Amino acid sequence: FLYCCIWEIAQQALNGSLLYNYFICNVGAGEQDNWLRTTFIQRHPTATRVFVEMRFVVRDCNSFGADSLTCKETFNLHTSEADADIGTSFRKGQFRKVATIAPDEISGVGDMQINTETRVVDNLSRKGFYLAFQDIGACVAIYSVRVYYKTCPATVKSLAAFPETVAGGENQALREVAGACVENAVSEDQPRIYCTVDGEWVVPVGQCQCRPGYEPKNDSCQECKPGFFKTSVSNEACEHCPKNTEPSSSGALSCPCLQGFYRAPNDPLTAACSGLPSAPQNLAATTAQMAVGKLQLSWSPPADTGGRTDITYNVVCDRCEGSVCQPCGEKVRYDPSNTDLKEISVIISELEPHLNYTFTVEARNGVSQLSPQRATHTINTALHYTVTAMHLVESSPTSLSLSWSVSRWAKPSSTRYELMYRKKKDEEKNKVTTYTVLVLEKNSVQIIDLSPSTVYLFKVQALSPEGNPGSYSMEQEFSTPAEGKSVILGAAVGGGVMLFIVVVVLLLRRRRKNSHTRQGPEDAYFSSPEQLKPLKTYVDPHTYEDPNTAVLKFASEIHPTHVSKQKVIGVGEFGEVYRGILKAPGRKEAAVAIKTLKPGYTEKQRQDFLSEASIMGQFCHQNIIRLEGVVTKFKHVMIVTEYMENGALDKYLRDHDGEMSSFQLVGMLRGIAAGMKYLSDMSYVHRDLAARNILVNSKLECKVSDFGLSRVLEDDPEGTYTTSGGKIPIRWTAPEAIAYRKFTSASDVWSFGIVMWEVMAFGERPYWDMSNHEVMKAINEAFRLPAPMDCPSAVYQLMLQCWLQDRSKRPRFQDIVSLLDKLLKSPDSLKAIADFDPRVSIRLPSTSGSDGSPFRSVSEWLESIKMSQYSENFSMAGIVSMEQVLQMKSEDIRNIGVRLPGHLKRIAYSILGLKDQTSTLSVFAV
Ligand code: AMP
Repeated sequence: FLYCCIWEIAQQALNGSLLYNYFICNVGAGEQDNWLRTTFIQRHPTATRVFVEMRFVVRDCNSFGADSLTCKETFNLHTSEADADIGTSFRKGQFRKVATIAPDEISGVGDMQINTETRVVDNLSRKGFYLAFQDIGACVAIYSVRVYYKTCPATVKSLAAFPETVAGGENQALREVAGACVENAVSEDQPRIYCTVDGEWVVPVGQCQCRPGYEPKNDSCQECKPGFFKTSVSNEACEHCPKNTEPSSSGALSCPCLQGFYRAPNDPLTAACSGLPSAPQNLAATTAQMAVGKLQLSWSPPADTGGRTDITYNVVCDRCEGSVCQPCGEKVRYDPSNTDLKEISVIISELEPHLNYTFTVEARNGVSQLSPQRATHTINTALHYTVTAMHLVESSPTSLSLSWSVSRWAKPSSTRYELMYRKKKDEEKNKVTTYTVLVLEKNSVQIIDLSPSTVYLFKVQALSPEGNPGSYSMEQEFSTPAEGKSVILGAAVGGGVMLFIVVVVLLLRRRRKNSHTRQGPEDAYFSSPEQLKPLKTYVDPHTYEDPNTAVLKFASEIHPTHVSKQKVIGVGEFGEVYRGILKAPGRKEAAVAIKTLKPGYTEKQRQDFLSEASIMGQFCHQNIIRLEGVVTKFKHVMIVTEYMENGALDKYLRDHDGEMSSFQLVGMLRGIAAGMKYLSDMSYVHRDLAARNILVNSKLECKVSDFGLSRVLEDDPEGTYTTSGGKIPIRWTAPEAIAYRKFTSASDVWSFGIVMWEVMAFGERPYWDMSNHEVMKAINEAFRLPAPMDCPSAVYQLMLQCWLQDRSKRPRFQDIVSLLDKLLKSPDSLKAIADFDPRVSIRLPSTSGSDGSPFRSVSEWLESIKMSQYSENFSMAGIVSMEQVLQMKSEDIRNIGVRLPGHLKRIAYSILGLKDQTSTLSVFAV
């Protein structure tokens, strides 16, 4: 202290110890103005706010008797800022008053009450400052003055280190501090935190995560132990090396595969290494139910899949004439394909009868390409025109008329037949057998010059157009009647046209028991209904080595002259989306949406663009956007889909806010749920289900769209980069999918819950203007979106079920569809409305402007609740100030022309919220 004026330094004993103080007691001596100033106090460059703690004693004025009239019991604290020490020069005028200091307890004679008071000196900016105490006629002693500022201590939070930071002052209540990740941790954005005026750290933002090979432990990142690994930047613990791998050393990023085991290029390093599959089993061929030249090969999956589910099959065909075999090449067709088959059967057509075919089916999985080993099963088969039973049409003592039919796939008209017959008794006598062979152009014949009352044995075989023989039918007996008898059994045969008749005398000792040396197609018949049923599972176009094959397989090619563009209706990631017309030959004109790929695309972009068609083309459901086809063979690549007149659902709802009943909204949700059930039945996980990805047609039917492979990565403006590099639409995504990419139909169910909320809130943005960070934090702390206004209780309950943390407890789409059906069947069930808190659901704007201050005008308020369209109604009715708005009742709102019940409620609730400004906003109802 600088001893100034008439303050005295004194010594006093208190409880046995000596205390020094600055003391003044000019009571009863008229007006006083006595100053005591400190020496120059250097300011810490960032401390703009300092605390002054004073310990002092004030004497009770009453104890001065008659002198008490001008006696005071307070003194003043002043401060003056300066850039340099001005020494002893002192000018009152340079000081500003900080506070009047009054004691909590005054002291009488002999009893000393020490008071402690702390005052804040804020907004300091110069190099240093002085404090001064002004006495105005009190009896006061100052024992100590402590001047300090507050800091937030150096800390490590969420693996980010933050330095000691001086707390801010009035003008900067929260001081943002940048930190740095601890060793071996990284973060996309620089970690930040705030230091409060009270020296406390709050709201850390940004997440440091341990590098691959490191895991978080005690505020640091430590190497994975041997036998453990970590592939990516994350705060997950290191994992045990997966199956079929060699143990790793410490700090491993992955564990190498054991010999004979592999990882497919797309396998994550966290997956087990897998082996090769064994050969397919039970390979069989059948022509049953098949048209000409077709057969079906079928098989069962390999006994050992190598530990993988991505089994596919390749079919190789060889044709053999005699012992010479060659690849069938282009000559035969395969449906669906001969490579990368997911199905366990294939139909092969354009086979030639009477050739021997060898079919080899190879089982492959995702790692087969990494090994030269092959797992195959081979079958030999030949196609025959088979003749089914012969009938007797007419007989006379010397003639027999016969007819027969052939298997379905033979064309009787173009086929010739070889008929062989002999007398039965020849065989019985076991002597030389004489066969007569006839080559016929029709499947009927009349044989003349036979002996009466004789049993003949007949067999017939079909010949291919080239004259190659099929297999003979079973031998059948027919007898000629006795002389004088004649029998007509069926329609007249009319004499089979015989090309030639050869009488062959075959010297056969014994008829061979089985003339079928080749395996007939029927022998090879193998099928059971399950095995032939197409597997209704979505096929990831990525599983095709060449994605163009997938497009060809799942989408039909449209000639560009059959599509005409009319008008741009949207912009997708790859280019404009047009409305247009599709006029395919033989089909009615149809309105379509045409997605285009902007010129200058790379092959990768072309494949990504078309992958949407490969996926969409596999679906066929009322509530899934239908693919009409693709244009891929020309420069301008296009995807053509059905046209949805009302566009994206989120925008449609916003444009029709309050205009639809709950019943209609639930009907729309039912459609979306049905589409999603179909997708989940196909094992397809959408990952980006949101109202913006639902399209609405003129009948208000909702259809799920947006299937591109890269869509979540690139296409969605809501996509936010996660620390592991992927892009995720945070507010629509289930926590487990955000946390560790566990995308399943159950995570789609979570998103469906958000879509339900969007729909019931007429396209409101989920979680309003909260940041993604705040949303994730709220969800982790078990907060959920509150019920939208007017939302039926049953519908809100279903949303909450979709948002259960434990994904196994969420309803499945099938449950959702049946529940929504039930609600729609008894509309009364929609009458109970969920609790609605207007302050939460219309969010702060209803109680104040965006900056937190009250609304300045009626139009500002209307805009904040998205009801600007009524601005004129309010001004016409003379309601021009917020005070007038606060007086309005429901009838008044109706009377100025707000008729739609949804709008009426929104405005009324908002007024209610405005009146209730005093209550603080609880962020979410749980
Ligand atoms: P997308 O690339 O699929 O997100 O499409 C971009 C925009 O084009 C969408 O938001 C819709 O507004 C519009 N759109 C896409 N497909 C259709 C369709 N089939 N019918 C009507 N509009 C569509």
